[in-house]
Amino acid sequence: MFALIAWVSGTNGPGVLLPLGKVILAVYLGCLLHAALLYCGLILCIGKLNPIRFFRGIADAQLVAFSTASSAGTLPVNLRCTQKNLGVSESISSFVLPLGATLNMDGTAIYQGVTALFVAQAYGIELNLPHYLTIIVSATLASIGTAGVPGAGMIMLSLVLGSVGLPLEGVALIAGIDRILDMARTTLNITGDAVGAVLIARGEGELNEDVYYERTPLVPL
Ligand code: ASP
Repeated sequence: MFALIAWVSGTNGPGVLLPLGKVILAVYLGCLLHAALLYCGLILCIGKLNPIRFFRGIADAQLVAFSTASSAGTLPVNLRCTQKNLGVSESISSFVLPLGATLNMDGTAIYQGVTALFVAQAYGIELNLPHYLTIIVSATLASIGTAGVPGAGMIMLSLVLGSVGLPLEGVALIAGIDRILDMARTTLNITGDAVGAVLIARGEGELNEDVYYERTPLVPL
């Protein structure tokens, strides 16, 4: 990563790092807002559960995702967290989480949207409403096709850039900071998978609330 950043700043001048800092800020803020508004809202309104307890329960999986930047690599920890800390049944979690680790990548879609706008601005290309709509659709589709391994979202970014005619060389501008962005988007990706598992388990009556709320069963005298 250091070599890539050195190459990017060496080739484009140190001034290029400031907009990259803004990209990092935008992606982290987007991921935080998505988790705070959408995921909290879903857990609260649809699951009728305490979102703080949810985030405490999956903290281990989030830490592993943040440090490995791989949804697939985090899958075993996410399975353990949802089953042992959140009370999701084994049958639901072992179906929903592997499926989510392959298909459900909200963080990757946010990242691809933000970086596509960054590339357009970096090259001075003006985008209009149809372009924005195309970016939304192609980023959603590209995120579904992204593998749960580090850096896969950056490869799929070329598909999003190509869909609105942005220069593919723009991927090189992002490459130096991609790992930092990957850590945030992967954390959001696996959080979304866990939200799905909890809500489906809740709907199917397969969620053990005693485990979710850490209620210790009464020990008979
Ligand atoms: N690293 C991400 C994941 O495993 C995929 C990506 O590169 O966006 O979820």
